[in-house]
Amino acid sequence: MKTGDNMDENKGMYQALGIDGDVYEFGETICKTLKERFDKIDETAEYNQLKVIRAMQENRVSEACLYSSSGYGYNDLGRDTLEAVYASAFHTEDALVRPQIACGTHALAVALAGNLRPNDELLSPVGKPYDTLEEVIGIRPSNGSLAEYGVSYRQVDLKPDGSFDFENIEKAINHRTRLVTIQRSKGYQTRPTLSVDRIGELISFVKKIKPDVICMVDNCYGEFVERREPTDVGADLMVGSLIKNPGGGLAPIGGYIAGKEEYVRNAAYRLTSPGLGKEVGATLGVNQSFYQGFFLAPTVVAGALKGAIFAANIYEKLGFSVIPNGTESRHDIIQAVEFGNPESVIAFCKGIQAAAPVDSYVDPEPWAMPGYDSDVIMAAGAFVQGSSIELSADGPIKPPYAVYFQGGLTWEHAKLGILMSLQKLKERGLVTL
Ligand SMILES: *Cc1c(COP(=O)(O)O)cnc(C)c1O
Repeated sequence: MKTGDNMDENKGMYQALGIDGDVYEFGETICKTLKERFDKIDETAEYNQLKVIRAMQENRVSEACLYSSSGYGYNDLGRDTLEAVYASAFHTEDALVRPQIACGTHALAVALAGNLRPNDELLSPVGKPYDTLEEVIGIRPSNGSLAEYGVSYRQVDLKPDGSFDFENIEKAINHRTRLVTIQRSKGYQTRPTLSVDRIGELISFVKKIKPDVICMVDNCYGEFVERREPTDVGADLMVGSLIKNPGGGLAPIGGYIAGKEEYVRNAAYRLTSPGLGKEVGATLGVNQSFYQGFFLAPTVVAGALKGAIFAANIYEKLGFSVIPNGTESRHDIIQAVEFGNPESVIAFCKGIQAAAPVDSYVDPEPWAMPGYDSDVIMAAGAFVQGSSIELSADGPIKPPYAVYFQGGLTWEHAKLGILMSLQKLKERGLVTL
């Protein structure tokens, strides 16, 4: 508990930043109810912090690992050791962790294209994958898609209650099924995010039907939320972005692919070139930020989770529908709030922007972004462009007028952002406290 004096001083500081006393007080009442939840999150972060440090020690990370390479990048000790660290932390045979991987979509595309061959079939047993993968797979026709290379695709949706449709999954698996892709996070859909336990259950089911199928998990936004990762429950490959959780906010670019040695190697042959694989790829000075970001990631993720839970409880209390709800267990860092009107979505995003350390004076407006079927408003005042482990929000201006937000490099910043969003809603008469 804060003492009276400290509380007054903090309140004064919030007021200096534009947060009214009643908004602050409202936030404090919510905070008081979250103490036990936050303690649990800290315990998970503690466990994951130790896991990362142990992986670094086991692989003898040294000062020399932080150096840079250029050109071909042969024998880059830092790169090779970092990949061993990821493999140790995620309990896999091997990993590919590279600045040459441009984003999460690229990492997933490399893992898929590296491991699928013409006439193979790809199966998603958890419904439609993340939007950008539609073009990778060829669900929406696209140049260079897997479909163009003769890889077919099948999908089994989750049942209306969010459970796996085991009967139809069994029917969908056939002699051509080579790879099963499982997306952990709900992305911008309304289905629940999958827990690591549920992913394990699905993988066991699939492997019982076809033991040699490759089970791949899109782990974006999921790293370090739980004590275990999908690779602890049978995933052969796990893929994610370094400008989300595992980059810890410090990685300026990159993605990872961790899993069985053979499958990681196949991905490397696709990322660089057949024959070259993991042997080339200079690190151009990013090694230190990759190591340090991974080191910080468990506590950064904890801060982001606290922010998400704080927001869920604030807006639930004010009568809005929030996904996940205020008390549900968490398996990723994304929080959605349904406002039901465009003004509130806009006010929320303006609040997140106004709380940013970078570009706080920028006033975001909805615009027709390429690739979206409605105007979208985005708030991001990030150190790394587009980084969504940093506090960020976006809201498509269409029903149900929901805002999706995630991140926050520290809990304190996430808290300020959420209070600022509430402040903007209050100023426009969109909520009453
Ligand atoms: C973010 C995300 C991706 C794609 O990552 P980008 O870095 O935006 O290309 C894929 N899948 C899921 C579930 C994601 O959240």
